[in-house]
Amino acid sequence: MAIRRLSDIDVRGKRVFIRADLNVPQDDQCNISDDSRIRASVPAIRDALARGAAVMVTSHLGRPAEGQWTPAESLAPIGRRLADLLGADVPLIRDWVDGGPWLAALRPGQVVLLENCRMNKGEKKNDDALAQRMAELCDIYVNDAFGTAHRAEATTHGLAKFAAVACAGPLLAAELDALGKALADPKRPLVAIVAGSKVSTKLTILRALAAKVDCLIVGGGIANTFVLAAGGKIGKSLAEADLASEAKAILDEFPGKVPVPVDAVVAHEFSAGAKPELKAIENIAPDDLILDIGPTTVAALKTVIARAGTIVWNGPVGVFEFDAFAGGTKAIAEAIAASPAFSIAGGGDTLAAIAKFGLEKKIGYISTGGGAFLEFLEGKTLPAVEILETRANS
Ligand code: ADP
Ligand code: MG
Repeated sequence: MAIRRLSDIDVRGKRVFIRADLNVPQDDQCNISDDSRIRASVPAIRDALARGAAVMVTSHLGRPAEGQWTPAESLAPIGRRLADLLGADVPLIRDWVDGGPWLAALRPGQVVLLENCRMNKGEKKNDDALAQRMAELCDIYVNDAFGTAHRAEATTHGLAKFAAVACAGPLLAAELDALGKALADPKRPLVAIVAGSKVSTKLTILRALAAKVDCLIVGGGIANTFVLAAGGKIGKSLAEADLASEAKAILDEFPGKVPVPVDAVVAHEFSAGAKPELKAIENIAPDDLILDIGPTTVAALKTVIARAGTIVWNGPVGVFEFDAFAGGTKAIAEAIAASPAFSIAGGGDTLAAIAKFGLEKKIGYISTGGGAFLEFLEGKTLPAVEILETRANS
């Protein structure tokens, strides 16, 4: 179904509200460790400004408690980076939902950043009253946040429902075009790599994916859950034991499709300085922490990746932030880069890993979405896209 696009709409003199995805990874001091998502959000803002709109931008960042401002989840550092990239002032506005002096002062050609939208009560529940108040702020609502398109929240869904005009920004439109084209008829074998730490949010996606792909490579906490399901030991590693039966069902239903790691790099503590130790899965001790896949597992996966026709990748296979445990993720990333397959990668930390290894240019398409990317892959309708389709016809 068709959606309206920002590029098709006359924004001169209009108030334009852009829901971007500026949810970037940060270190303990809130320094931005990878600004890909901020950079990817710049074209929509620039375009609206250049065409004479008064622009307000918001995003979520992390998981703040609704109704509370906390410095750790403030968009302040993101605003500073955005200002550098735009070469313009980007004032940060707190308590913005009901407008006020900042809105009255906002002129065409100017941009403000509206503080973390998840600090507003009702954001996550997609509260209609909140969305209606936000819709009053603007003439045109632009969703450019592919990364949260799988969630119906007040700024991704409710606002699209109530704003006078609702459309997709260039990033959202480009993501839908690129992923749709690549996945409509993928060159086989189709290999999916699903790893990382968000076990419960990703495990449910695995079943649907297992049915679609020729090989499903698991890593990180997800792989640990599969090792448990296959009867292996994981010590005190990250996993969700209550989901092991679900993982077991996938292994049984798709025999041979989901290779389970056979070795791992373990440590006794979760830290950058922890001493790495290589172990076969059957030798994992109760106090071991699996922090990366081991070389035998890597070698097997490299063969699969080299033969693939299409590769989709979400999630680092180890704690790549610590150099001693980055080897598996680096090897997988390099294998994808070297493979003749068309490759698509998505996910905040996945992009950070690709950037760390300097492989951005060797991946076929870099998606800014993690969960949204996986759900798109799974064939689900993304609620934030669905409402734009509905609005295009109303
Ligand atoms: P993405 O943001 O790409 O979707 P996730 O947020 O799900 O990925 O997961 C990324 C995180 O998973 C990284 O911070 C990485 O350190 C962590 N991780 C990977 N493997 C393990 C592991 N074995 N144990 C603990 N954390 C892990
Ligand atoms: Mg992440």
